[in-house]
Amino acid sequence: IKKIGVLTSGGDAPGMNAAIRGVVRAGLAEGLELFGIYDGYLGLYEDRMLSLDRYSVSDVINRGGTFLGSARFPEFKEESVRQIAIENMRKRGLDALVVIGGDGSYMGAKRLTEMGFPCIGLPGTIDNDVAGTDYTIGYQTALETVVEAIDRLRDTSSSHQRISIVEVMGRHCGDLTLSAAIAGGCEYVVLPEIPYTREELVAEIRAGLKKGKKHAIVAITELLCDCAELAKYIEKETGRETRATVLGHIQRGGAPCAFDRILASRMGAYAVDLLLQGFGGRCVGVQNDRMVHHDIIDAIENMRRPFRGDLMATAKRLY
Ligand code: ATP
Repeated sequence: IKKIGVLTSGGDAPGMNAAIRGVVRAGLAEGLELFGIYDGYLGLYEDRMLSLDRYSVSDVINRGGTFLGSARFPEFKEESVRQIAIENMRKRGLDALVVIGGDGSYMGAKRLTEMGFPCIGLPGTIDNDVAGTDYTIGYQTALETVVEAIDRLRDTSSSHQRISIVEVMGRHCGDLTLSAAIAGGCEYVVLPEIPYTREELVAEIRAGLKKGKKHAIVAITELLCDCAELAKYIEKETGRETRATVLGHIQRGGAPCAFDRILASRMGAYAVDLLLQGFGGRCVGVQNDRMVHHDIIDAIENMRRPFRGDLMATAKRLY
């Protein structure tokens, strides 16, 4: 291994820059050459790459987003498109590629590896929905952002004795919602992992109001329902003013917290170690605070993220 490419793909996440920096600085320290690819798999296909030196990644460890850019590029599912991407990398003498992204990006990395081009995946997404790791890069920062938003909602909803619904990102993973609900002291939490009905939710809210609760904050994961509709329904059923707040892309931005910077730095350096040891087709994770690696295919197809039932139980006890 002499030359490594690095790209960021899928939804951006705070800490992606720190991960790129980790790969670049660790690679240079081992005497490797590093190339950055713009805009994920799209840039790979369009042959938009640049050579990176240590100063290319100066002043980025604290910056949100990704300076290489990211993209959704569904065409990468086609083998002929990936073949062109591989030719572009071979033309520049690249031997391996580090892909920083979510599970969709891992699929691309898996396919490239199957076609003979070794890739290492680093989990970069705020959703914490990637198998084989306790935490993804960006998750802890997003958690801080959501908790800050919930704190603000609490001030206003308690002053007006309102019910607030806050919609949190995470797609099909409730980790961000659940942890934010505990840290934000939310009264109710609705997650994709646990079936719910609006009738049950209203019954719980009514019981809380009966106990003398002055306000209620409901944390709910995106894609489960239309939160504005749910707010209308709750208002009708409880007679209490109810407002919905969809946090949206606010959750993806901002400077990465220290945890994410450290995680990204460790993972970036570890990816280089794995490539130097001759590994390809692996994805990096942190489990019990140790760096681990798994087969990308195994991680995508067979490994499931365990649901944190213990955290859910804690949230419910503290309602
Ligand atoms: P996030 O979780 O933040 O959305 P993600 O990596 O899961 O990130 P996706 O949009 O699912 O985001 O995937 C990113 C890119 O990975 C896609 O736009 C596409 O270029 C590539 N990709 C996804 N699935 C495949 C696949 N089956 N084969 C090849 N490439 C894929």
